[in-house]
Amino acid sequence: MLDISYSDIRKMLLDARELATGAKDIRLTGKLIDIQGVLYDLLEENKELKDKIKQLENNKALEKRLIKIGRFWKDPERIYLYCPRCYANGKLVACDPIDNTIIGDVYECPNCRFTSSNPYKR
Ligand SMILES: [Zn+2]
Repeated sequence: MLDISYSDIRKMLLDARELATGAKDIRLTGKLIDIQGVLYDLLEENKELKDKIKQLENNKALEKRLIKIGRFWKDPERIYLYCPRCYANGKLVACDPIDNTIIGDVYECPNCRFTSSNPYKR
């Protein structure tokens, strides 16, 4: 990946603006300011895309690890049971154990209220 930071580019643009100012070229100075603005937007977008890629890579790694326990998903490296309905919508929501309900001991999703029997107590 390109290893150019905004400050590197900013420095180059400031150098160019200094030269443009030295040459008393107002239009060139204006153009350089425009370029600086556009570059800032592009770098911002680039950072968002990098974050998104990282998130997708994390999700992919997690998907490989998840196993099914009862109707829930579980990451063997963690203690939580995750909601299958929220997971289908791309969200990882840990469910809460609730004992002695009218349908017995269950796990319930705090987000969508998906409820199913506690797979550890069958
Ligand atoms: Zn849910």
